[in-house]
Amino acid sequence: MIHLSNFKHEFLNKLQNCQRSISRALALPAACLLCGQLSRHGLCPACHADLPHLPHALCPRCALPTPDGGLCGACLQAPPAFDASFAALRYAGIAEHLIPAAKFGGRWHVLPLLAQVLLHRLPVTPEVDAIVPLPLHPARLRERGYNQATEIATPLARAFRLPLRHDLLQRHKNTEHQARLTQAARHGNVRGAFTATPAARGLRIALVDDVMTSGASLDAAARALKRAGAAHVEAWVLARTL
Ligand SMILES: [Zn+2]
Ligand SMILES: [Zn+2]
Repeated sequence: MIHLSNFKHEFLNKLQNCQRSISRALALPAACLLCGQLSRHGLCPACHADLPHLPHALCPRCALPTPDGGLCGACLQAPPAFDASFAALRYAGIAEHLIPAAKFGGRWHVLPLLAQVLLHRLPVTPEVDAIVPLPLHPARLRERGYNQATEIATPLARAFRLPLRHDLLQRHKNTEHQARLTQAARHGNVRGAFTATPAARGLRIALVDDVMTSGASLDAAARALKRAGAAHVEAWVLARTL
């Protein structure tokens, strides 16, 4: 587990940007994002191994670890609106540090690298027709400058040669930050936050986001897509809280 002070964090960030520019100029391999060792893929093998990878036996519906990879109790009782979930990491350790740094600290270049980690947990040929990044409210998008879900979804869409669709789902309610709310409040908070367009009819859709916590936002978005006639909705997330 690595905890960096803000200062060190800022410094490393600048250093890495510098290294990256020099590497590009000289066509040298880039440095590992975490330890600075030379690495062609952004994360060196040792740092990749140190990520809090989820086990392979996960609930197929919500990606919670289960002993035999069967459905978890929660999904048996009250399944979410999405049909399946894929997640790469536990939202803990270095993941709990990297993802907020990407989201709020402007280190968004971390996200395509983590998307590569997720890519390896997804089926070789996903049974979906389109990839939809979970939209931010337009006001939130203006404030942040980019949508973290789009940064993750873009390399995945490219890898699978699937269309990235921004037109199918809109967020029209600027919800409170989910992190500040209790589990029950999260579901209420995002209820009715999304609307999907009729173009979603009949499509199999992968909804992409950075972290699944209660799954309330993904559930509300999947519900909207299903209401618009989507045939299948699955959630693809970098990390999952347990
Ligand atoms: Zn490394
Ligand atoms: Zn489940």
